Amino acid sequence: MDTLAHAIYGATLFSRTGLAGGGRGPVNAQGRRIALDWTFWTALGLGLLPDIASIGIYFTNSALNGEGISFHALPAYVFVLYKLTHSLVVAFIGLGLIRLFWKPLLLPALAWPFHICLDIFTHSLGRFQTPFLYPLSDLAFNGISWWMHPWFIRAYWGLLLLIWLGIVMARRRYTSKAKC
Ligand SMILES: [Zn+2]
Repeated sequence: MDTLAHAIYGATLFSRTGLAGGGRGPVNAQGRRIALDWTFWTALGLGLLPDIASIGIYFTNSALNGEGISFHALPAYVFVLYKLTHSLVVAFIGLGLIRLFWKPLLLPALAWPFHICLDIFTHSLGRFQTPFLYPLSDLAFNGISWWMHPWFIRAYWGLLLLIWLGIVMARRRYTSKAKC
């Protein structure tokens, strides 16, 4: 799944502006609407994290040094970072630490393991397979190569659109009920 879709899926499922906000949406404990919902931006960022903190570092580095960017000449460290950021073992250790130190971050942080779960089924075996049990095992699933199937890309973007339509409609119904 493309990186932008990962970010938006994360924010859609694990922020108060998205599905996790239920019928009320981004409303705080005092009933006030939160204009800048931090859970939205955090879930968006953590949905990006696995790709940004691996391939993204290399791309940024190459761009800053004026070097050409190529998927065929990736240095070894990118694959080490890719394995670490695409491991459910590492992600759950991260979630455990978050739960320990700042519990409110736990909801948007779920965007990270969700990214991995999507990658497990949308990457086939090869350089970018998803080693979800790393470093315990290099086991990976032979999923669909999303970049080779335009219909699949249309399907997951279409599904996002449907989810947002559902959220908007549910919130309208909630607000009109609250007025009665
Ligand atoms: Zn990824």
